[in-house]
Formats: sequence, structure tokens, C-alpha cells
Amino acid sequence: MRSVDEHLQEILGRVKTLPPLDLALLEAQGTVLAEPVSAPVPLPPFDNSAMDGYAVVAADIAAAAEGSPVTLPVVGDIVAGDSGVAAIRPGLTARIMTGAPLPAGADAVIPVEWTDGGAANVRVFRAAPPGNYIRRAGEDVRAGEVVAPAGTRLTAPQLGMVAAVGRPRVTVRPKPRVVVVSTGDELREPGSALSPGQIWESNSFMLIAAVVEAGGVGFRHATVEDEPGDVLEMLHDQLVRADAIITTGGVSMGTRDVVKEALTGTVGFHKVRMRPGKPQGFGLLEGTPVFTLPGNPVSAYVSFQVFVRPALLAMQGLPPEPLPTVSAVLAEDVTSPTGLRHYLRGKLSFSGGSYSVAPAEVQGSHQLASLSSANALIELAEDTEAVQAGSTVNVLRLPS
Ligand code: AMP
Ligand code: MG
Repeated sequence: MRSVDEHLQEILGRVKTLPPLDLALLEAQGTVLAEPVSAPVPLPPFDNSAMDGYAVVAADIAAAAEGSPVTLPVVGDIVAGDSGVAAIRPGLTARIMTGAPLPAGADAVIPVEWTDGGAANVRVFRAAPPGNYIRRAGEDVRAGEVVAPAGTRLTAPQLGMVAAVGRPRVTVRPKPRVVVVSTGDELREPGSALSPGQIWESNSFMLIAAVVEAGGVGFRHATVEDEPGDVLEMLHDQLVRADAIITTGGVSMGTRDVVKEALTGTVGFHKVRMRPGKPQGFGLLEGTPVFTLPGNPVSAYVSFQVFVRPALLAMQGLPPEPLPTVSAVLAEDVTSPTGLRHYLRGKLSFSGGSYSVAPAEVQGSHQLASLSSANALIELAEDTEAVQAGSTVNVLRLPS
């Protein structure tokens, strides 16, 4: 028997960060930067208008008020995209659009709402200080500033930022490609009819979704039957498209523990002091990490979150942190097996300024319904035997 932490440490000690790859921006969505991205020029690159309105000399309209507007001749129109060579003299104004370069000589923008909107002459009803509604060069980003350090996951705002500093391509850690394969003679494809003794295969769908949630790409291999020779051959065939492989089933103490038979010698099989998920295996098959997870669906899922997800994060160059964790008040008494790290399905809710968590009524490792209606795992330490309602517990939030 080994602890959860020992097993995770072995895994993290052996997985490697994926080599970097140069990708076009939209291909890079969801990947992690392997280089810092910085701005070659300031953003905005030039002083410009924050409003549709009129570029003025602030002193010219210092006396403007609702009952006594100041009238200025309008000498031109400046739109976004203009080259920025326009200028105005005191006593004059130019109509200006949002994002258009501020003309030389102007030191304020009067929004059109503060005027009568005139085209030849405009009446201004409000005074404004110098700088009014001007967006200064560099007030978003300074030239040379790093806008996204290495290790940044490129989600929507970060992709926008990288484009905004003019980069068409980025060097990133690719999404780990993870082959997921279930084993078991009893498993049938969803959509097919069940004969006695059969069930529909579910782990691979669940785990591929979990891989994607962790930033990877999942490839589903058809379920393999409980024939050790077939399993080994299949796994070798998958190596060309795999940065990691996940198997489920066939690792416990039965007579048909096909994964264990096929991979003994390559994968280290261990009993890990946890519930659910005791039988675990991890190893490298020609250098590719292989996770052999237990077959019971809840065990497979919890094992993924505890062991595989941190490994996938590390492969992406990210800290291998656990699922986001909050402290919550336990709604009911629970008991826990001594010596095992216990992950209980629960429902986390937030009200009155704090989190509370209610354990699911059933906790069997085959009871997928109680996982699918949970949103969190209550994590109880190995030495915990019982926790009373009202106590504070650690809760891992499941991806939503
Ligand atoms: P095993 O570890 O292969 O002995 O499987 C343990 C339990 O999990 C058995 O009840 C299996 O039928 C079930 N099981 C294994 N693999 C899957 C799967 N891919 N989808 C659904 N149930 C599974
Ligand atoms: Mg099986």
C-alpha cells in the first residue's frame, strides 16, 4: 500500500512537459504559452478619442454651460483609421470619432451628448478639463511590457491580448493528446442492445470529457476485450498519437485483470490508500505515461482528478495543482475509513456568505448517478474517522 501523495509524487516525477510548438493564434486556443509575449509598441499606439464628439482646446469652452453654450466652427472630421496628421487651432474644433487620433493642438474631447451635434458650427453646453475623454498612448500597455508570461493559458482575453500586440503566432505547449480505452467483455457501446450480463460503456466518454476539461485532447479507442495479448498490441499501436494513455478496468484482484496481466513489468501496480480508487497503476510505455485506472466509474473519475489531471497540467507546463479547493461547512455527519484518503461526492452551495457541502446519500463506486448530480468532492484525510455536521472540511470543486 502507498499513500495518495506518494503515488502522485511518483507520477509527477516521471511526466515531462511537452516540447513547445509554434501555432497560429486560433489554433492556440486553450494551449499554454511557452514564451512570454510582449508589446512591440505602446497600446494604444497614439493618443485618441474615447468618445464620438469634438476635439477642442479645453480653455475655449471653459465658460460653456447649459444656459450659455460656447459655439465653435467645425473645421473637419477625423475618423478611426485617419493618419493622425490633422491639427486644430484655438477657437476651432473638429468632429472626432471613437478611436480616431487626437489632432495636434486639441487637449480635450467633448462627447456629442454635451453638444447640439452641429456639423458646420457646434454649440457646446458643458466645460471639460484638459485630457477629457482622451485615451493616452501607452495607458493600456507600455512598449516592451510583457502582456502574457510563459505559463499563461490562452483563453479568450489572453488570445485577444496576444492579437492586440500584433502577434499572428505563438509558441505554446500543445494540448496533451490522451488516448482513452476501456477494457471489459461486459461492455457494449451506447446505442447497442444489451444482452444479459452486459452494461453500456461509460468510462471512456466521461474521461475524454475530463481530459478536455483539463486542457487536453482525447482520443477514444474502442473497448477492448479481456485478452491480455490484444491489450498490449493495441497500446503499442496507440503510441503514435498519444502523449498519455488512460485505461480503465482490469486492474483489481479478479481472474480477468487484463490490464494488469498485459502491463506488469511496464506499469507499477499499487494499492493506494484511498476510497474510491484503491487499485492504481502508472508507468511509461516507451516513454509515454500510462495510467491504468480502476473500472468502477466513480473510482475512475476520482482517480483521474487526483492523479491524471495534475499530470496533464504538468505536461502543459502548468503547476500540477489540485482541483480548486474551498473550505465548506459540512451539512451532515460523515464517517470515514481509517487509513484511507476519502473522497465523498457532495453538493457544494454558497449562501449567506459561506460555502456549505452536503454529502451525497450513496457513495458506492459504481453509483455514477450520485457523481453526476454532485458538484464537489469532500476530501477527508487518512486519519479522519468521523466528522460532525457543522465542522469545516476541504472540498474540491468539480469542473462546471
Ligand atoms: P474491473 O475493474 O474491470 O473489474 O471493473 C470494475 C467494475 O467497473 C465492473 O462492474 C465493470 O463492469 C465496471 N466497468 C469497468 N469498465 C467500465 C466502463 N468502461 N464503463 C462502465 N463500467 C465499467
Ligand atoms: Mg473488467
